[in-house]
Amino acid sequence: MAIKNGNNFRYNDINNNEIRESSSIHPLSDMKNIKLPNKNDIHIKNFCKDLNVNFNSIIKKSNKIFSLTFNNVDWMISLEPCDGGGNDRTNKKEKMDNPRKKIEIPFANNKFKELIKNNETILVINVYIPLKNEELDYGNRVYAIVEPEEIYNSKSLTQETWNSSSRWIELKKILQVLNEKIIVQNNSKNLFICNRYDLKMLISNEIKSKYLNCYNNNLLKLVDNWLEVKDMENDLKKYQKFRNIFREKLLLERGWKCEIFNCEVGGKNLLNASHIKPVHSIVHDTRMDKPHKIKEIMDSCNGFLFCPNHDRLFDRFLISFTSGKGEVLISDEVKHQTNYFNLIDMQQTINIIDKNMSNYLIFHNDEFFKRNYIKENQNGKFSK
Ligand SMILES: [Zn+2]
Repeated sequence: MAIKNGNNFRYNDINNNEIRESSSIHPLSDMKNIKLPNKNDIHIKNFCKDLNVNFNSIIKKSNKIFSLTFNNVDWMISLEPCDGGGNDRTNKKEKMDNPRKKIEIPFANNKFKELIKNNETILVINVYIPLKNEELDYGNRVYAIVEPEEIYNSKSLTQETWNSSSRWIELKKILQVLNEKIIVQNNSKNLFICNRYDLKMLISNEIKSKYLNCYNNNLLKLVDNWLEVKDMENDLKKYQKFRNIFREKLLLERGWKCEIFNCEVGGKNLLNASHIKPVHSIVHDTRMDKPHKIKEIMDSCNGFLFCPNHDRLFDRFLISFTSGKGEVLISDEVKHQTNYFNLIDMQQTINIIDKNMSNYLIFHNDEFFKRNYIKENQNGKFSK
């Protein structure tokens, strides 16, 4: 809450490249008092410009949440201007000495809540517009991006209170970004701050790898717990959560398109993550110890991103791929439909990322041959 000092509120902002007290609140600080139409679109348009993404290609999910494809990855973005959160409207000395702006993780927003429950890769970004002669200086916009762990390990989520949660950036840090043109973290190290020229690099490097770490940590916890209590196949909620996170991880690593060559189907909502060596086969493999099981279940090399058709064919062992060159093997059941599925028998159809992937494919091949009554000859040819 704001502390009243007669009628004299004190506000702090970056004005003419200095942190200064001013007589009025930042024009974007309290959005509720602003009635300009499409106020948010200015920020979304600038944001797209900074990422070199066509504004018309974004998909709006709500007033401040939208999705866009950038560097081959579909990102969900929650974008809004940061506000003072009462902090820049005070007469307390310690707050005046180190004025801060508020970044809100909008757990209370229904759309946001839905996306989080789905374990989607979402960036919580606030933009700060400094002032020049008390006017908004859009050219010097600065972005603050919340660390993924802060979102996915927040108490609001783990305890399911769904209260909005705040993080803070010091104006000093924003000034440092503007003057030194570097990427910095806030004092609590729970968000990154950058200027508009570094936004692209920050998201595609640091934030992406932070997200992958966050997913790996959460997958590890889930899988470790399953194998301990052996409830994986009975707890559908946990299993679904695992599947969602595994898929998000593959989407971040491989992009937004079906991995079959010649298949152009893409987009977050159309792709499934298929395990090559199925999870239940790993869980029930008595020759493997727990750490190996965890590794194979979580390993992104043990997965492909496929459109629904190709996912089904692969999942039911109606097609497989040779472990050497990734040539497609087609069962009799679908042989007469290869045109519909854009498949040509024994043509390279998939990229094999590394040796681990080849090993998982050997398992899948064996199962494919068994189920389709095919034997592999010594010379590598297949026969009935
Ligand atoms: Zn496909």
